[in-house]
Amino acid sequence: MFTLIVPDLYGLDLGMVNVYLWTGPGGPSLIDTGLPGTVGKLLSALRRQGIEPADLQRILVTHADFDHIGGLKALKQVSPARVCCHAAEVPFVRDGALKPAGPGLMGWLTRPGFLLIHRLYRPGVSRVEEIVIEGHVTPEGFTVLHTPGHSPGHMALWHQQRGILIAGDALNNRGGRLQLPPDIATPKPAMARESLVKLSKLSYEVACFGHGPPIVGGAAAAVAAFVQAQGLAQQGTRGSG
Ligand SMILES: [Zn+2]
Repeated sequence: MFTLIVPDLYGLDLGMVNVYLWTGPGGPSLIDTGLPGTVGKLLSALRRQGIEPADLQRILVTHADFDHIGGLKALKQVSPARVCCHAAEVPFVRDGALKPAGPGLMGWLTRPGFLLIHRLYRPGVSRVEEIVIEGHVTPEGFTVLHTPGHSPGHMALWHQQRGILIAGDALNNRGGRLQLPPDIATPKPAMARESLVKLSKLSYEVACFGHGPPIVGGAAAAVAAFVQAQGLAQQGTRGSG
């Protein structure tokens, strides 16, 4: 069942990953789709909200990891919702490419596992009707923030007017503890840190994560404190677009 986070924004905890539902202007729209095996759960949660798949306007994809786009193919079969992702993520969402491995030995060691999951689930290969870049404002009112590192075209979504940040996997909050996405699944960890620094400079009260519970109230301050504690603020400030 979807849980209300703030008016017009709901979260659905699918066990290992979250999906978000926006019911405000421009919606109803989904942010991410969970795993392939949980799409039934997602559809029934939508129906309990009074939303039929045919009603969905848009599926905003933060990035193409299998736990975020796993439900995409099945959803597209029952919904006319338009798929929206960052231009640099298109090869992974539309063409089913697998993002590069994480760095070093661990990246190399875990590569066969990621390849196997990718081959089994074939999560990608969806039409992408809306290809966006940094600064694009979606009809829902979210500004696209290109936050590469965890994946080349990772995007976070910032609703400036409502003070909401959807961080995707630019920042995790597993167990209510802020943490960077794991290096083994992050091809460019240094870039992921820069992306997080960028998010820490914005203003928002609410932050929602691909993994872990949302922060409702004082979210930007919590993210900025995390960035300070990790010593990231002094590191590179190279912009990304
Ligand atoms: Zn994830």
